[in-house]
Amino acid sequence: MKETLKSNKTLITNGFIITSEDKFYGDILIEGEKIIQVSDKKITDSADEIVDAKGLYVIPGAVDPHVHMELDTPAGASCDDFFSGSKAAIAGGTTTIIDFITPGRDENWNEAIAKRKSQAAKSLIDYSLHASIVGWNEHTPGEVSDFIANEGITSFKIYLAYQKTVGISDSQLALAMEAVGSAGGLVMLHAEDDAIISHLKSKFIAEGKASPLWHARSRPAEAEAIAVLKAISYAKILQCPIYVVHVSGAPAIQLIAEAQESGIKVFAETCPQYLLLDESLYDQPFEKSAKYVISPPLRGSFDRWKLWKALKDKTISVVATDHCPFNLHGQKSVGGEDFTLIPNGAGGVEHRPGLLFNFGVLNDRITLNEWVNLISTHPARIFGLSHKKGDLKPGLDADIVLWNPEQKKVISAANHHQRCDSNIYEGFAIQGGAQTVFSKGKKVFDSDQFFNDGVKGNFLKRTPLVR
Ligand code: MN
Ligand code: MN
Repeated sequence: MKETLKSNKTLITNGFIITSEDKFYGDILIEGEKIIQVSDKKITDSADEIVDAKGLYVIPGAVDPHVHMELDTPAGASCDDFFSGSKAAIAGGTTTIIDFITPGRDENWNEAIAKRKSQAAKSLIDYSLHASIVGWNEHTPGEVSDFIANEGITSFKIYLAYQKTVGISDSQLALAMEAVGSAGGLVMLHAEDDAIISHLKSKFIAEGKASPLWHARSRPAEAEAIAVLKAISYAKILQCPIYVVHVSGAPAIQLIAEAQESGIKVFAETCPQYLLLDESLYDQPFEKSAKYVISPPLRGSFDRWKLWKALKDKTISVVATDHCPFNLHGQKSVGGEDFTLIPNGAGGVEHRPGLLFNFGVLNDRITLNEWVNLISTHPARIFGLSHKKGDLKPGLDADIVLWNPEQKKVISAANHHQRCDSNIYEGFAIQGGAQTVFSKGKKVFDSDQFFNDGVKGNFLKRTPLVR
């Protein structure tokens, strides 16, 4: 007997729908992997499954455009791989991640991308990759335009810090911005001035100042501002749109706001750790302070006030995580006697929607629509994914989160899904969380249970930024 073709429709009903621009009670109809209808009226079509979202918010799955799964470092790889990291993402309401491919200085980019895609194949959710430019040779301009035209990789990361490893020189920065800008791509910048940081690091170590506190002191907000001014100036002169990752300090925000006012195409991102955690956390013994060794470091209350203001006035349009966890025991611990050896990074891919909901929406710092824009719509739009992700509209992928605004939990390494022995938000009491998560129309998470059978993330080709 011939099997009848199932229509495979899911109806989400009675929810409070929050799109990038609107909010209303209504229904959403999913067919296969796509949203086919969003309505403020009852949808009466027959469906195979009906999900009652009464009392829940219905939001687009969050898009985290800045994560580092299994990133190689001298202290071992960051401790979430694409499987555990994507699982943690789902539990927090994130259904798309963008990680990085970092070809070595003389490595062929096609080989590098094949390697990275095979690591990323473990992802349970759709993902894309930015390409890091860590050197410049005669092949690089062709590799850049090939990635944009053929691989759907349209954003390129440049490190102004870390000159000894992945950073490039100013003359290479100019070449890269010219090549990326003219090919229709976007340059992302880790903006911290290497010279002043190197100077301070050597000085502090020579003076025996080797604890995590001195990591922070060696990377002042002015070091960030110097690099941001350089990036903005190069962007203007060479006509290349830029995106400054993990903006942390007030001086950098000021420069970015002025650049935007003058018409320079500069986007800015910050992360929950810079919005919520204070630099005084470094003033503790190694066991307690090492997990906060991230770059840029945590800042003070004035910087945080400016960051929240910048989210509200749209100077900063994205909140990402820079998810890059390292275990305290066996990884961070290698720098017990010397902060320069501590691998930089912390986890957060699981917590971004919840932290921003609790401390942003519930504390009246941002609206529900601004929350959706910051964690989903803007990153999807800036990085060329808005044909599939970042909103609730017919034709888009059915990446949908049923958000319980009353859910309460306390963040802890004891119960997080991230694979790490510590958590920088340990003890944070959060209201609001993902109750049910759909990834491409399939229910992958519900009431703390995962349903991963047969669900797999795919590599997403992205479109260039519309100018
Ligand atoms: Mn960085
Ligand atoms: Mn990063």
